[in-house]
Amino acid sequence: MTQTIPQDILDALTDVDMPRLAPEPGFDDKLSLAGHVIPVHRAGAMVVGSGAAGLRAAVELKRRGGDVSIVSQSAWGGTSACSGSDKQTLHTANTADQGDNFKEMARAIRSGGAMDEDTAYIEAVGSVRAMASLQFLGLPLPQDGLGGTLRYQTDHDEVGRATSCGPRTSRLMVKVLAQEALRLGIGFFNQTTAVRILSDGHRVTGFLAIRPKDRSEQNPLGLALFRCEALVLAAGGPGELYRDSVFPNGCFGSLGLALEAGLELVNITESQFGIGTRREGFPWNLSGTYVQVIPHIYSLDDAGQERHFLADYYRSTQELASNVFRKGYQWPFHAARMLDFRSSLVDLAIFRETQKGRR
Ligand SMILES: Cc1cc2nc3c(=O)[nH]c(=O)nc-3n(C[C@H](O)[C@H](O)[C@H](O)COP(=O)(O)OP(=O)(O)OC[C@H]3O[C@@H](n4cnc5c(N)ncnc54)[C@H](O)[C@@H]3O)c2cc1C
Repeated sequence: MTQTIPQDILDALTDVDMPRLAPEPGFDDKLSLAGHVIPVHRAGAMVVGSGAAGLRAAVELKRRGGDVSIVSQSAWGGTSACSGSDKQTLHTANTADQGDNFKEMARAIRSGGAMDEDTAYIEAVGSVRAMASLQFLGLPLPQDGLGGTLRYQTDHDEVGRATSCGPRTSRLMVKVLAQEALRLGIGFFNQTTAVRILSDGHRVTGFLAIRPKDRSEQNPLGLALFRCEALVLAAGGPGELYRDSVFPNGCFGSLGLALEAGLELVNITESQFGIGTRREGFPWNLSGTYVQVIPHIYSLDDAGQERHFLADYYRSTQELASNVFRKGYQWPFHAARMLDFRSSLVDLAIFRETQKGRR
């Protein structure tokens, strides 16, 4: 029973109109370097990247009176806008029926063993403000009749800290943050790729970028120089570290820039493993939202024969169905959840099917 989902239904699930950018700010100056004439922009702070992280950083800096501009390889083109995040984790103190506390939440966030306690605590206490401000900006999170955010359980979560407005949640987050950045008049240099971070040996002083649209005889590489006192590198992505990845093609990340500039890596050992679909194969990743409508999971052999292989791994249809459902909020693979016929057995089963050459 293979069905093709009509494109308009897929589009309706994932398409969100994004705001139009304001005209680009002009450059302040020009610099002659090795025979090239390069435009120069100066700002107190520069943000590289316009995903949810970069936009949030720029908005918060601007609200505090900072002189900030954004540079992005591709506006609305990163992971937040194109692939990830159908659910967000939040502290639940503002809702009834299940209590929460910041320390417990921080413990859950760092339970993978790859994050400092204070970083996790900052994330926990900050979640209240971050989520509330997204709602204030218009993120349509589901609410109960009294205004409490509707929630469900997510990974390592005892009290139900996840909320979602469907597989478009992070794209909607980018949309409301982008609207706010535009409203605040934050300068935005699009199609501008940072290629080298500059420092005086102790502090970052700016970065060089490439702007293909600015190539000219005087500036054949389309270089631009951004001078700043503070740099927020919010370039996302795993930096092409993995062969198999659910990041859409084109979401490269720019970790390497920071390493070249001498940054030391801390708290960067965490990775997620789990089944997923590539952006070009299906218009969203393995989204919890999809899994919670209990999809039909099967493999195809070379002859196009369907196999309901999960039936070989679970003892009853009910056990199979409830574990497929659970996969929605227990998305990452967890070794302990392979035991006792739990949800990570789905990952193992899919891995073994693909090893046998089936799709
Ligand atoms: C399949 C999948 C599912 C996920 N599910 C969830 C989930 O359910 N919940 C959750 O919380 N998280 C989830 N995540 C993680 C989450 O989506 C990401 O952590 C988050 O979107 C990253 O946001 P960001 O702003 O850091 O990066 P991005 O959104 O990737 O933005 C990076 C920005 O930097 C720009 N850029 C990159 N390099 C340069 C450069 N050299 N110069 C200029 N600009 C540059 C890009 O164009 C882009 O604008 C998921 C991720 C994936 C891939």
